[in-house]
Amino acid sequence: MSNDLSAPLRAAAAALTDASDVTLLAHVNPDADALGSALALGLALHRRGKAVRVSFGAPDSVPETLRDLDAAGLLVPAAEVPAEPEVLVALDTGSVARLGPLGDRVGRAGTVVVLDHHVSNPGYGTVNVVDATAEATALVVLRLLDELGVELDEPVARCLYAGLVTDTRSFRHAGPETHRVAARLLATGVDAEAVARPLMDSHPFGYLGMLSKVLARAVLDRSAAGGLGFVHAVVTLADSEGLRPEEVESVVDLVRTTSEAEVAAVLKELRPSYWSVSLRAVSRVDVGEVAQRLGGGGHRLAAGFTATGEASSVLADLRTALESVATN
Ligand code: AMP
Ligand code: MN
Ligand code: MN
Repeated sequence: MSNDLSAPLRAAAAALTDASDVTLLAHVNPDADALGSALALGLALHRRGKAVRVSFGAPDSVPETLRDLDAAGLLVPAAEVPAEPEVLVALDTGSVARLGPLGDRVGRAGTVVVLDHHVSNPGYGTVNVVDATAEATALVVLRLLDELGVELDEPVARCLYAGLVTDTRSFRHAGPETHRVAARLLATGVDAEAVARPLMDSHPFGYLGMLSKVLARAVLDRSAAGGLGFVHAVVTLADSEGLRPEEVESVVDLVRTTSEAEVAAVLKELRPSYWSVSLRAVSRVDVGEVAQRLGGGGHRLAAGFTATGEASSVLADLRTALESVATN
């Protein structure tokens, strides 16, 4: 890794070593990198005798595919997060806003440790370990565990592997060092297929019906994104009724396979006329920049934002932002 994080890593390790009570938070609608990173560090600290809880601002329930990662029962509902945490650790969370309703804890905690890999992270903690070159926050957490002298075992490694395999898209966006890290995690006994399959490759039968409706309405706009092509699809509340968030989240992985489009977007209706939008690019358009212009954030090739109103007007704003970033 190019940037020297040894000083913040030492400071984070010292803050956690001194703490007796640690609250670890993932971003809203947590994914495997956010929750896996929080649970890995939480488990290690719990074993050192600290009072530990892991939570996130929304939704109320833990994604079904991530529940198994919580080997020690550290997850608590957002309502049980103390108003003034002794030490707060925010993981994979590029801004305070991404903590949702728990964002107010940042200003009230004794110490705030930020562990992240978003280039846009402003460094809102007392200690900030932010490595934009890391493919996943799980890698930042592993460096911190090494700094703490934690011996890796399967339950901790499994949480990190879950974050790593998802954020690297099954190691396609992973350099040699990250493959070495994966080998180190697997050497503890992690079953790669057993971790990855529920996260990325398993859906109830109803998923197929949802896909057939949503994908049939997908639109390819060849002239958009400065002529590089833009494909988009919309998942309404009616489309996703009875299905888990996991099914809705995975739609973008199919839409983005469209070879005529550099950029893919999926509008996911979370509440009536309230949309969470997933953006993906192949290589040439910085969709993190597009998302930031629309109030969201993310990485160069995977980003998102939220918006309210008609899907058509959300798409119109998106097309405009995309045009100016792509032709910049
Ligand atoms: P998603 O499409 O939900 O998988 O999100 C892809 C990436 O975009 C995430 O890893 C986040 O870095 C970022 N992201 C998604 N939604 C938002 C948002 N509303 N605000 C800021 N960043 C977001
Ligand atoms: Mn994430
Ligand atoms: Mn991540």
